[in-house]
Amino acid sequence: MIDTHCHLFFEHYQDDLDVVMRRAKEGGVERVITISLDKPTAEENLRLVERYPGQVWCTVGVHPAEIANVSEDDLLWLEAMSGDPSVVAIGEIGLDIYRGETNLKEQEKLFERQLAHARHVGLPVVIHHRAAGLRTIEITEAAGNTRGVFHCFSEDYDYAKRVLNQGFHISFTGNITYKNSPLPDLAHRLPLDRILLETDAPFMAPVPHRGKRAEPLHIFEVAAKLSEIHQVSIHEVARITTQTAQSLFWNC
Ligand SMILES: [Zn+2]
Ligand SMILES: [Zn+2]
Repeated sequence: MIDTHCHLFFEHYQDDLDVVMRRAKEGGVERVITISLDKPTAEENLRLVERYPGQVWCTVGVHPAEIANVSEDDLLWLEAMSGDPSVVAIGEIGLDIYRGETNLKEQEKLFERQLAHARHVGLPVVIHHRAAGLRTIEITEAAGNTRGVFHCFSEDYDYAKRVLNQGFHISFTGNITYKNSPLPDLAHRLPLDRILLETDAPFMAPVPHRGKRAEPLHIFEVAAKLSEIHQVSIHEVARITTQTAQSLFWNC
C-alpha cells in the first residue's frame, strides 16, 4: 500500500521516526510520500528521502497557509528542486480560507503560478482545498491541469464529479472513519480506481487512534473502511489504490 500524503518532518516524529518507518514497512506500507508546505519543510523532506531510500518520496510546493513566509527566492528554489528525481508532485498547493479570506487574491495567484509550473515540468499536483469551496475547482478548470489529487476531500458529490471529470483523483484520510462523517456515502458513489489513500499524518488519525498522532501504517484503517464501503476485500482496495498511485506519481 502507499500512503500518498503525510508530513514526516513534523516534530511529532523527532524521537522515533526510524521505528515509525520500520513499522510501516513491516506492516505492508511499501511507499510513503511526505508532502512539503514551504522551503524549510521541502529541505527537510529531501533529507528524509535520502534517509529512507526506496520507501520515502516527496513533493515540493507552498501551502496556501504558508504564503506569508515564502519569498520569491524560495519559490525559484522550489521550482528548481521539482526536477529532483525524488520529487513526485507539486504540492501541497491550493486555497485555504478556514481562517478568513483576507489574502485570498494572493493565494489564488500563488496557486495559479504553481499549477502553471506543474504543467510546465509535467508533474501532478497535490491540492489542498480547505473551506475554499468552488473557487479551488474553478481555478484548476481554468488552468487546465489534468493530473493530480484533491487531498483530504471534504466537498460533496457534485464537486467530486467535477474533480473527476477534470482527470483528477480524490483522496481520503482517517476522517472517513469518523462517526457521522458524510464521506462514506460519498466514497460509495465514486469509482474505486479514482480514489487514493492518505493519512495526512501526524494529523487526522483514524478510529481507533483518533485524537492521537497518526502515522503511515494507519493507512490500513482507511483502506479497511473503503473495503467495507465498496464491499470488496481489503486486498482488492490495496491493489487498486496502489496501482492508481503508481501511475499518477511514478508513471508506471
Ligand atoms: Zn492539506
Ligand atoms: Zn497535508
